[in-house]
Formats: sequence, structure tokens, C-alpha cells
Amino acid sequence: NGLKKYFDVHGGFLSKKVGEVKAVDDVSFTVYEGEILGIVGESGCGKSTTGKSILRLIEPTEGEVKFEGRDVTKLSDEEMRKLRRDMQIIFQDPYASLNPRHNIERIISEPLLVHGIGTKEERRKKVAELLEVVGLSSYHANRYPHQFSGGQRQRIGIARALAVNPKLVICDEPVSALDVSVQSQILNLMEDLKDEFKLTYVFIAHDLSVVKHISDRVGVMYLGRMVELAGKDALYEEPKHPYTKALLSAVPVPDPDAKADRMILEGDVPSPSNPPSGCTFHTRCPECMDICKTERPALQDVGDDHFVACHLYN
Ligand code: SF4
Ligand code: MG
Repeated sequence: NGLKKYFDVHGGFLSKKVGEVKAVDDVSFTVYEGEILGIVGESGCGKSTTGKSILRLIEPTEGEVKFEGRDVTKLSDEEMRKLRRDMQIIFQDPYASLNPRHNIERIISEPLLVHGIGTKEERRKKVAELLEVVGLSSYHANRYPHQFSGGQRQRIGIARALAVNPKLVICDEPVSALDVSVQSQILNLMEDLKDEFKLTYVFIAHDLSVVKHISDRVGVMYLGRMVELAGKDALYEEPKHPYTKALLSAVPVPDPDAKADRMILEGDVPSPSNPPSGCTFHTRCPECMDICKTERPALQDVGDDHFVACHLYN
């Protein structure tokens, strides 16, 4: 609720603060128990920062993050440590997130050790179970990360996240680094595990096509703000925000007639350290009006829990 994360920018001879990057700038949304909420946007739009702020891997500058009614931003370190059992994260680059010097057993049992769960023997058994659950074999337990493919490493990352039976898993572009053929295997696995373990996912991706099949609702972020949030069908079939429309029409379509109304995004994403005034999308929006340059549109419900931040719908 009202989540903000500003990073200081330092520069010059004395490395003084020369500016601020508003990585997340007043973002509010709800994640319902048992759902998969997709969050999509180009790199630098603040989606990872939002995900990490939920777990307080990054301290938010402002705002609340309520998990089962408790504001996690106000918890002590000890309370937060306990709560981390319920909230886990799967990272984009499985290789970078697995310690190359540790074998798989040690990697997957790490969260159990941190939370003081089980005896050594119980942890070993749990690791063997988890390896099977993610489609690997318990005989892999003594191997090291470099002995696995990218897809297998992501399976290991998933097993590690599940070790403590979390309720919420932040999935930060878990398939972006993988080959397309492997992506769908991992997505299918994650969907199955979600049901089996009664999980809730916030699933971050830079591409709307990745989250299309698995999400219940999808939020679209642009320059640190949530610009549209709706049920999956509404978002893909009746997108309202010009940015969402542009993202959707950038997805290659096999039907040549459909190309007629393809909308190509012009220009680069502006620098988040110097975002445009008003609606931050106005520099690239084909429907920009005068008001867009000065007034920031609020995210509002335009009916049926379809939220959009755009003056066209005011
Ligand atoms: Fe485009 Fe204006 Fe809507 Fe922003 S508020 S998306 S500039 S029409
Ligand atoms: Mg990211």
C-alpha cells in the first residue's frame, strides 16, 4: 500500500548525492490467497524492487506491506526472520543464486538450517523428497550446481524455496534466463507445485506472453508505477492502458491481418532518475493529451476490478 523505494544516486568527485531514482513510486495492490498475480514490465520498471520489498530484502522508503494483516515493514528482525518461512523468493538467474561451493543437499537444506528445522537426518530426507517433487532425483543431492543445466538449476532453486513450506512465493523472472523449450517445463512444474503445496505466487516477468497462461490477474508496471491491473482475460482481451496495448501488440502475431493495428512503441524508456512529468508514459503515448503532461493519473477501478491509471478513462 503506497509502496515507494527511492535509491540515492551518487556522483562527482566527492561522491555526493546528486539525485534519486524512484524505482517504485507509490504502488498499491492486493495479492489474494491461492492466486497467481503476474507483474509485467520492461527492465527497470520496478517490478523486482517491488517483489524484493515485499520480503524486505530491500527496505521500502515508504508504504506498507501487509502479510496476513501484519505490516512487515514494522516487524523486528526476529519477527521478520520467522515470517521469512512463509515468504520465499525464486530468482531469475538460478546459477548466481546457488553457491557453487555447496552441494545440492546443503543448498536446499539451507533454509531449514536457518530456521532450525529438523535433525540432520530429517533434513536429508526432506531434501530427497524435494528433489523428487521438482523432477530431479535424490542421487543428485551430492552434486554441485555446475553439474546441472539451467533448467535443472531452476528446479533446485524452487526446491530450496519450498523447503520451509512457504505460503507466498515471489517468482522474480524465474524462466527469463532459460531456453524457450525449458521455460514451459518450468512453468508447468510451478503450476503443479502451486496446487500441491497450496502456494500463492507473485510472478514477475518482462514479457506478457510468459505470464499469460499461469496468471489469474496481471499488473503492468511502467517506470515505477502500476499502470494497469486486471483479471487475465480482461487484460489480454480488453487492455485499456495505451502501454499495455503497445506491449500486447509487440507480441508477434501469426495472423498477418492482425498486424494492421499493431502499435509500435517509439523511443526508449525514459531514465527513472529523471522521469517525465504527469503521466510518465506521455513521452511515448500515441494518445497523449495536454493534461497528461502535467497531471499524474491515479490507478482507479473502471469496473469489474479492472484498474487503470490513464486520463482517457477519467
Ligand atoms: Fe497516454 Fe495520457 Fe493515458 Fe498517459 S494518461 S497513457 S499519456 S493517454
Ligand atoms: Mg528484474
